[in-house]
Amino acid sequence: VSGLRRADCRAAGECVLFVNAGGCAIQGDHPSANLFSSDSFFQGGESIETSENIVQGGDYPSLYSSARYGDFTYRFDGLAPGDYYLDLHFAEIVHTAGPTGIRSFDVLVQQDKILSQLDVFKVVGGNRPLQVLDIRAFVGSNGAITIDFKGVRGNPMVCGICIRKSPATPAAKLGTRGSGLCKKCLTDVEISSPIQKRTAKLISKYEKQIEELTSQCNIKSDECSMAWSLVESTNQELDRLKMELHQKLVQTDNFEQVLDTQTDQLRKVSQNYENDKKLWAAAISNLERKIKAMKQEQALLSLEAHDCAHAIPDLSKMIEAVRALVAQCDDLKMKYHEEMAKRKKLHNIVQETKGNIRVFCRCRPLSKVETSSGYKCVVDFDGANDGDIGIINGGTAKKTFKFDRVYTPKDDQAEVYADASPLVTSVLDGYNVCIFAYGQTGTGKTFTMEGTERNRGVNYRTLEELFKIAEERKDTVTYNISVSVLEVYNEQIRDLLATSPSSKKLEIKQAGEGSHHVPGIVEAKVEDINEVWDVLQTGSNSRAVGSNNVNEHSSRSHCMLCIMVRAKNLINGDCTRSKLWLVDLAGSERLAKTDAQGDRLKEAQNINRSLSALGDVISALASRSSHIPYRNSKLTHLLQDSLGGDSKALMFVQISPSDNDASETLSSLNFASRVRGIELGPAKKQVDTAELQKVKQMLERSKQEAKLKEESLRKLEENCQNLESKAKGKEQLYKNLQDKVKELESQLDSKTHSQITSEKQQSQLSGKLKEKEEACTALQHKVT
Ligand code: ADP
Ligand code: MG
Repeated sequence: VSGLRRADCRAAGECVLFVNAGGCAIQGDHPSANLFSSDSFFQGGESIETSENIVQGGDYPSLYSSARYGDFTYRFDGLAPGDYYLDLHFAEIVHTAGPTGIRSFDVLVQQDKILSQLDVFKVVGGNRPLQVLDIRAFVGSNGAITIDFKGVRGNPMVCGICIRKSPATPAAKLGTRGSGLCKKCLTDVEISSPIQKRTAKLISKYEKQIEELTSQCNIKSDECSMAWSLVESTNQELDRLKMELHQKLVQTDNFEQVLDTQTDQLRKVSQNYENDKKLWAAAISNLERKIKAMKQEQALLSLEAHDCAHAIPDLSKMIEAVRALVAQCDDLKMKYHEEMAKRKKLHNIVQETKGNIRVFCRCRPLSKVETSSGYKCVVDFDGANDGDIGIINGGTAKKTFKFDRVYTPKDDQAEVYADASPLVTSVLDGYNVCIFAYGQTGTGKTFTMEGTERNRGVNYRTLEELFKIAEERKDTVTYNISVSVLEVYNEQIRDLLATSPSSKKLEIKQAGEGSHHVPGIVEAKVEDINEVWDVLQTGSNSRAVGSNNVNEHSSRSHCMLCIMVRAKNLINGDCTRSKLWLVDLAGSERLAKTDAQGDRLKEAQNINRSLSALGDVISALASRSSHIPYRNSKLTHLLQDSLGGDSKALMFVQISPSDNDASETLSSLNFASRVRGIELGPAKKQVDTAELQKVKQMLERSKQEAKLKEESLRKLEENCQNLESKAKGKEQLYKNLQDKVKELESQLDSKTHSQITSEKQQSQLSGKLKEKEEACTALQHKVT
């Protein structure tokens, strides 16, 4: 395990020779000056050296740095016969990393194999010393020791050889002394002479056997180690291969993944491609279709263009005709306007002849309470159709009144409105109109004006008709209709459409020439009839606010609905503003004197004043008085624009049929008669009817004229069309005739030509005839 030590050289005196195999002499601090001689006594082989460190090299590591290797033998001569010991020093300095078994060799001393298949690496590893000490050798008479190194695998190798003389008895004494050296323990053994030989023989025999067994064991262990190393290397190789395999598998996995993603991509791309292809194909076919259609269109258009080019002369003719027609039409329009203006005027005249103030009397039916209380009807409707109404009052003579119209209890709302309608609609022609309901409380004033939801009155029907006419005339006139609802109570104006009650007192102001208005009042714009009922309801609902009894309150105030109409004529640009007042007056009954106290008295006085002011204004207007007392009450002041002048007024006198109300009924009828301004009498009536008849005839005539004119216009248009078509036909005829003329001319030409040729022939023939005649006469001459 360790290299040679100084202490090992105790028997230096016995050392005959120490050879540094493969190296040079090494100077030592040994008693003998040259301890290690340079390499000699060898036959064959080569020397090698290493510069690597010898591990545990002992005191002389350089001994192991050099070696002889190859096929070699050492032979030492000139030795005195006797016993010697040999020390052999080895180190594996070539194959320092093995493997085991790379180098194994036998060592033979004096032809005896003393080491079999020595594998230095296997025993100590590389660059480590291995000493084999005290090998016995007997030198015979030839005085030589031979050491043979024989390789089993690879070359044998040795670093140093030491020959020592045995300190014991020389070999010659061996036989006499009877002692031997045990090869194993290297101790002297005393052997008796007779047994000595046999023992020696046995010993040598056993030694040989042991050697053989050892060598066999060595071989086996070498084989084992070889096999082991092979297994190890194979395992290593296997591991390496496994690793490689694993790497390859990982790589394969990666590749597979990459392949998968790429396949996916490819699929997507191909799908996209397919889709795109389809889309493009569809687009292309679509475009092709379009191109085809466009080509067809183009062909059609070019045909049309040709036609148009041909039609241009016709067109210009037509344009002229159309122009003429337009001129005619303009002319007719003008005439139509003139006629319309005339119609308006005539309508107005008719209304005026009926009286700018008209009074209709309406009597309500007897109520259930009245019949059950036994009250009788005092009204006589015999002359109702002629506008006569009679009151038979208990025994006294029947008193008769004449009105423009009398309605019996059987006449319904529609009939009542029908007579008011022409007056109402004149608001659309720009006239101001007033309609009142006058009468004792409970006689049907509110019923006539407002009506009920199922039985609507004049207010609603008026607006309904206004919208209807506005719609009919919308091509020529635009109407703008708005509505205000007022109440006059105790000479104070209240806006029934105002959403918040204002503390400000409403006053009447003069806005322009002859037009009055109440600043701050709500004018609800109504676009169609559906909005009207709501507005009217809002008005009548707010009338109830602040009063305990609606009927009582309403009977003591005037409820006034004002419809404002702004019209714009789209043909001549004329603009008009007109108003229609629909007034539900306060009850006209006179108070019993006992009741006349406090507030009731004030109310009664106010009502009285305003109603008599109304009567005064109307009668002043009727008598064409220079002063009309409009300002005597809020009621007449508000109505100033709509009473008098061009304005028209209608009063419904509402009466009760009951004998209980007879005196109030008479008073109402008297008031109404005063308003009407016409005394009863047949003369007036006739005059009236004659005038009316005249105007009616005029109207009829003008209507017929208009009709005739329209008819003639239509005829003119028809004629025009006929003439146009005839002109076209004639043109065609003319063309045909021209063609025929041309044909005939050409025929004529050919005929004259043939005539000329035949004439020529004739003259030729007559020439020949003459010649013949001459020849004939000549011959006759000869004969005679
Ligand atoms: P005024 O407003 O004059 O006080 P109203 O309009 O309130 O009177 O009418 C009183 C009652 O008589 C109401 O119930 C009403 O329905 C009824 N009435 C009035 N006139 C008629 C009529 N022509 N036909 C049927 N009922 C009527
Ligand atoms: Mg009423």
